[in-house]
Amino acid sequence: MTDFNPPSESSDSSDPQAPSPSQAPDCIGCGWCCLTDQCNVSHDLYGYSQPCPDLYWDEALGRYVCLLMRDDEKREQYRKALYQGEGCCARFNPWRENVRNRDGER
Ligand code: SF4
Ligand code: SF4
Repeated sequence: MTDFNPPSESSDSSDPQAPSPSQAPDCIGCGWCCLTDQCNVSHDLYGYSQPCPDLYWDEALGRYVCLLMRDDEKREQYRKALYQGEGCCARFNPWRENVRNRDGER
């Protein structure tokens, strides 16, 4: 089970090449989606903030995680809102091939 899965890319049902959520590869915590485009939940919580305060490089895991997924009180709410467990929203982004700490680069 992955620790962090931001929203899935909306698929166009008229496009036969469009991936369905069930076909999406697992989130591996490369951080591309969050560092590129802060999610709506983060906007609601913090306003525009780049980077998102909840994006955290977990050195032990060797990946980015969303700290909202670990929130003691609202974890389930956030997991549902952010489609946790439904796979990567940007499967072709090149960061997936090079998962590393990119703090301070953007
Ligand atoms: S709240 Fe979580 S999913 Fe949203 S931008 Fe921040 S780290 Fe990413
Ligand atoms: S781009 Fe994909 S693998 Fe990278 S953090 Fe986002 S959902 Fe996870």
